[in-house]
Amino acid sequence: MEKIRKIILSENEMPRQWYNILADMPNKPMPPLHPGTKQPIGPEDLAAVFPMELIKQEVSTERYIDIPEEVLDLYRTYRPSPLFRAISLEKTLGTKSKIYYKYEGGNYSGSHKANTAIPQAYYNKQEGVRRITTETGAGQWGSAMSFACNYFGLELLVFMVRVSYDNKPGRKLLMNTYNAKVLASPSTMTVFGRKVLEQDPNSPGSLGIAISEAMEVASQDPYTKYALGSVLNHVSLHQTIIGQEALIQMEKTGDYPDVVIGCFGGGSNFSGIAFPFLREKLLHKKDIRLVAVEPASCPKLTKGKFMYDFGDSAGMTPLLPMFTLGHNYIPEKIHAGGLRYHGAGVIVSQLLKDGLIEAKAKLQRECFEAGVLFARNEGILPAPESTYAIAGAMDEARRADIEGVSKTILFNLSGHGHFDISAYEKYFENNLPDHELSTAEIEDAISKIDITV
Ligand SMILES: *Cc1c(COP(=O)(O)O)cnc(C)c1O
Repeated sequence: MEKIRKIILSENEMPRQWYNILADMPNKPMPPLHPGTKQPIGPEDLAAVFPMELIKQEVSTERYIDIPEEVLDLYRTYRPSPLFRAISLEKTLGTKSKIYYKYEGGNYSGSHKANTAIPQAYYNKQEGVRRITTETGAGQWGSAMSFACNYFGLELLVFMVRVSYDNKPGRKLLMNTYNAKVLASPSTMTVFGRKVLEQDPNSPGSLGIAISEAMEVASQDPYTKYALGSVLNHVSLHQTIIGQEALIQMEKTGDYPDVVIGCFGGGSNFSGIAFPFLREKLLHKKDIRLVAVEPASCPKLTKGKFMYDFGDSAGMTPLLPMFTLGHNYIPEKIHAGGLRYHGAGVIVSQLLKDGLIEAKAKLQRECFEAGVLFARNEGILPAPESTYAIAGAMDEARRADIEGVSKTILFNLSGHGHFDISAYEKYFENNLPDHELSTAEIEDAISKIDITV
């Protein structure tokens, strides 16, 4: 019999609710703290920068949250997303295992980021917001927000991390096409940006700096709010549409994954694919491993410290209990694989602490190699970020073959790499060095955190 290549769901099979893992976690995360008082924050502390509906979702313990009709309607332009079996890759690897992947690159933003951009823009519009500020690293989040904001009639101002602004002009132009204004961060528009530039006029920028700039602008105008593309609970919540669909699709294949893998920046696409499967493990004892793969040059999960830290460089966000490399950590410029954020989401951090998920770090050259092999076999050029998940899946297949067993592996292909072709060029030219953060560098970054709670 011929093997299944892909499972496509119809529009009416699309789940109509997001899954909130806060309902089922054995240990709930510790609360976010006010940076001044060090007391747990309440909804009103976030109201200056986020709309109330997203603040409610941030702290909700309801197991399922209905997706609004207007959001479902726009989801339907690209969802349900396909689930593929990587038959050609399996053959090339000569593995006995089955490798499945959920593809989140087939939408206007080219990544999973659209899944949360759409509801975030929608809830802001509902509450009378006129303009949104945000940061973007590699540019996928900015692209995702640009289209969503324009669709719902909101203005968007994007602070794009300088190193990406210079290296990925295509992403900036895509944002402009979708009607957004894009500034390189650090910028001269904000007090914090000017301060960073004074200290280092050539600063490559970082997500932490760009977040501070975007929050500074939002906090000064009642009609401007701020949006974040990863890390926060409500972002992970919106991404669970990925795993909710994947569960239905895996059922149709007749297989059930032994391991689910996602690449890891702040945790949103990993959460999206993993949390619905983790629910099945927690509630129905379905045996499964959930593995987050991060870059060795930004290894907060595997080498960071679990502690209260800021989400941004200026210290404007609440203090969050998370695995972190320190909020002033700036990854090496030579690291091309995205996933450059200094911290991990609060929920994922707690799950890792409790041993319910696993994490591993990988070097970038091996991941690009896996990405090229994947492209040549499956015909999709992966985002550099996604290559970490591919390499993670190949590790699992190899290990199973050594053990003489056959596993079912599922990973999330979080986006395509059409705007990242110059990173591939560097890889082909042998111009993409590996970089691993040394213990001394990590200790140095963490020692600068200087927060007592
Ligand atoms: C943003 C992004 C990531 C990393 O962010 P997470 O919140 O960890 O998912 C990974 N892959 C792609 C394609 C991205 O755009």
